[in-house]
Amino acid sequence: MSEPDSPTTTALSSALSSITLEAKKKYRPATECVFVENTGVQDNYNASSMPIYQTATFKQTNASEMGEYDYSRSGNPTRTFVESHLAKLMKAERALVTSSGMTALDIILRLVKSEQEIVAGDDIYGGTNRLLTFFKTQNNVMVHHVDTTDPRCVDQVLNEKTRLVLLETPTNPLIKIVDIIEICKMVRAKCPDCLVVVDNTMMSPYLQNPLELGADIVYHSGTKYLSGHHDLMCGVVGVKNAELGKQMYFVVNATGVGLAPFDCFLLMRGIKTLSVRIERQQESAMKIAQFLEGVGFKVRYPGLKSHPQYDLHHKMARGSGAVLSFETGDVIKSEAIVESTRLWLISVSFGCVNSLIRLQIINTSMPCKMSHASIPEKVRKERNLPEDLIRLCVGIEDVDDLLEDLENALISAGFITNKQL
Ligand SMILES: *Cc1c(COP(=O)(O)O)cnc(C)c1O
Repeated sequence: MSEPDSPTTTALSSALSSITLEAKKKYRPATECVFVENTGVQDNYNASSMPIYQTATFKQTNASEMGEYDYSRSGNPTRTFVESHLAKLMKAERALVTSSGMTALDIILRLVKSEQEIVAGDDIYGGTNRLLTFFKTQNNVMVHHVDTTDPRCVDQVLNEKTRLVLLETPTNPLIKIVDIIEICKMVRAKCPDCLVVVDNTMMSPYLQNPLELGADIVYHSGTKYLSGHHDLMCGVVGVKNAELGKQMYFVVNATGVGLAPFDCFLLMRGIKTLSVRIERQQESAMKIAQFLEGVGFKVRYPGLKSHPQYDLHHKMARGSGAVLSFETGDVIKSEAIVESTRLWLISVSFGCVNSLIRLQIINTSMPCKMSHASIPEKVRKERNLPEDLIRLCVGIEDVDDLLEDLENALISAGFITNKQL
């Protein structure tokens, strides 16, 4: 790949986008994660794991014409390799990997021009909210925050200026489900130039493929399930339309947000075990959700029949994921539970091999209470975020240990008097 003003750019980017379409046979999702073929990357020694091309520049043999790679901001074989594999998993024409989930959103936002409009949810990831707020004031763009779990609310604000509809499902931490299929149909009928963008971080490509549900662009924080070990930051974008892919690649090349070679290697390594991690995590999540519901808490998890949007979720996704939340009715006791667990680590983020727990208290007196801290208190109240909400992100530990640890925490917080397990 070359700088955007070099003559080879067009030919190379079209060659690249066609690479991803060559897959001959389609396998089941677990096989697709681990079986890598047709990435279009040539390795001289037939390495069975893609080497880390830790280089900024590539030597050229021709004085006037650049080879496939020249400068790692523009392209690097380790990055092309993981992008091509991810395109297959996301059912995308083209994938781009960037330095974080937020830079993935940033390259998408640059498709929006001044005076256009964005429709987004009212229960979105705090960092997304922060970037959208910055973007709209800097660029004279209107952002409508609506309840995207009700397609009619989206319909009400769609108009000829709408450029992006930004969806996230399940939402976090309220675990509400958004009907991607219905909203895509509505958008197609009403604003043909509008793009439906789905943040698929909570499900990962293993459990849900928004591009197959009608979306134009899907993106993930690869920091979560895709990498799986909380040892790197990255973002992953997938797109059906090659022209859109080219426009976003322009920003990657122009700014240098493409993922660095070593991180591409770590990401690839994580993806190979995505299926075993998620299968294990969601099986445990189900048992934990049932246990907590049995104790009498209000539990939010799409695997429970009691979830009001159970059918909708399972119409779109192949599983329930491994993030759940529950309310205890008492902020102080919620805090006591969070601080009493030993295996469940208090941490932001999710999708890690370790189980995580955190209190979703978000108010101005505790401004550092993690990722939703960037949602102001007034907005939080309007969105009805309960203060006693505990979020659990289930890891790969033995589920009986996780249950015991949680049970001990419930005993010390005074919710149950003796062992129930
Ligand atoms: C973490 C997260 C992001 C942001 O990704 P980073 O890799 O932290 O930049 C975006 N959306 C969702 C749903 C997330 O959980």
